[in-house]
Amino acid sequence: MNDLTNIPPAATPSEEPRPKRTRKPDWIRVRAPTGEGYNQTRKLMRELNLNTVCEEAACPNIGECWDKKHATVMILGDVCTRACAFCNVKTGMPRIVDPMEPENTAVAAAKMGLEHIVITSVDRDDLPDGGASQFVKVIEALRRNTPNTTIEILTPDFRGKMRSAVEAIVAAGPDVYNHNLETVPRLYPTIRPGARYYASLRLLEEVKSHDPMIFTKSGIMLGLGEQRLEVHQVMDDMRSAEVDFMTMGQYLQPTPKHANVEEFVTPKAFDAYGSIARAKGFLQVASTPLTRSSYHAGDDFAQMREARANRLAKAAKSPKKTGGK
Ligand code: SF4
Repeated sequence: MNDLTNIPPAATPSEEPRPKRTRKPDWIRVRAPTGEGYNQTRKLMRELNLNTVCEEAACPNIGECWDKKHATVMILGDVCTRACAFCNVKTGMPRIVDPMEPENTAVAAAKMGLEHIVITSVDRDDLPDGGASQFVKVIEALRRNTPNTTIEILTPDFRGKMRSAVEAIVAAGPDVYNHNLETVPRLYPTIRPGARYYASLRLLEEVKSHDPMIFTKSGIMLGLGEQRLEVHQVMDDMRSAEVDFMTMGQYLQPTPKHANVEEFVTPKAFDAYGSIARAKGFLQVASTPLTRSSYHAGDDFAQMREARANRLAKAAKSPKKTGGK
């Protein structure tokens, strides 16, 4: 059933401008979005009528990624039915779903020669299945057209229809299923008001319950006012849900109307968080100021696959030990 009554008109998360942003520290340095590869990626996305989270979320890595022809396709339109305080994507009444999007995504993957592709979407609370069937169609189109491309999907929480959505998507066989927790539970009411922390955790558990061998991934932003022990608790929660890969990156305020940056976490502190996460048993951890869910996703996927193979081989040699995931 389409319930559009709670969807606000197109707007940024708060109508009240917040205080001026703090100046970015030197370690948040990014390459300017120019260059031949960048221009070709941009042209291809426009020709195929595809949206990217790289542009819509104002990702700081766009210069580097697009120059290498790595783009993260954002399906189901460019308008989101939620209004999270950290996110730059437009909010409001989404347009109809583009039936050509799955084929066009596959064409883009083929033309960019992608070994690994990341597909994400806006929240589509207006659709009866939350947009799950479009994820399935995109995965199927990629398998048909670029069978050697590994597929990573980054989905919304599919509020109210999570079980059926996850079941359908996992059955389509992506290589990596990512769903971000985004922040610590205490900050959900202000940062991610339309979502529930434990519902997102349950989604990650649900993915593993359908396919224990699928790789799962989740991430949080740092610098929103979270405490160190709260971050450790999120790590423990993710491990309880058997999440394989954790990402942590610095939150950057997209516009003055979005949530403030409370802190620029130092690279050293990111390293420390990364070490703690590794010690907690994740197969793969990415923790740097510029880490984003899809940043270097192909290389990280290859490392994660190798880490699992090593862990399984080790477990096979010592059969009394458990935890050979
Ligand atoms: S990190 Fe991800 S979202 Fe950002 S530019 Fe690279 S591929 Fe796009």
